[in-house]
Order: sequence, then C-alpha cells, then structure tokens
Amino acid sequence: MAVEPPTPETLMRSRYSAYVVNNYEYIQATYSNSNRTNLSVTDIQKAAENTKWLRLTVLSAFDMGNEGEVEFIAHYKVNNDFYQMHEHSFFVLEQNSWRYVKGDMQHKSGKIKVSRNQECICGSGLKLKRCCMLV
Ligand SMILES: [Zn+2]
Repeated sequence: MAVEPPTPETLMRSRYSAYVVNNYEYIQATYSNSNRTNLSVTDIQKAAENTKWLRLTVLSAFDMGNEGEVEFIAHYKVNNDFYQMHEHSFFVLEQNSWRYVKGDMQHKSGKIKVSRNQECICGSGLKLKRCCMLV
C-alpha cells in the first residue's frame, strides 16, 4: 500500500498534485467516506478538465485529534483567463488516513487581472507572456 499522507497539509498537497496530472481516481479516493459516494470520478473530471493548475500556496494548516484544516490559494487558468481559488478546507482522520471533507470558498476567489509583462503568477520569474500565457 502507498504511504498515507501524515497530515492534512500533505494530503491537500498530494490532492493538488493529483489535479495537476489529472489523477481523478486519487481525488475521489481521498474524499471522506460520507462524501465519496456522492461523487463519481467522471463528475470530478468534468469539473476540472479545462483547468490548468499553475501554483499552490498554503497559507495555514493544523490538525487536532481527528480533524484538520488547511487554508490555501491555488492559481489556475481556464482557456485564456487566470483565476485564484482561496479555500478553507476541512479534513477528517478515517481509519488512520486523512481524508478531504469539504472546502469553503473565500471571498477573494475568482478571475484575476493580469498583464502580459508582469512576472508570471506561477513563480517562474519569467514574464507572463513568456510563461503561463503560453500553456
Ligand atoms: Zn508561469
């Protein structure tokens, strides 16, 4: 069996990585028991398939007992528009495995204004027009 993420933050980061590589089976498998049955892999894929993930920034994370929380900002692109998602995620420990329960979207989420000549939001140090504007 694969090594289980030891904290809510590592689970959250592994789920982000799974989205980057379109591993929707992992996304579904790491939902909490109560939520997993409501979501098919196809549903998850449909909701995410036009999204290109660019950057993850974890703002805070903690766990206590069987519950954990992570606040993060993810930057992504859909078609030619750039967005940020600011989410407060909730996690639960089930059979010694951290699982994702749900995320509350924060008010700063949504489309963001970018200029071609600004430094790319992925953190590469390149100008946007030479970096993620091309992906
Ligand atoms: Zn970039």
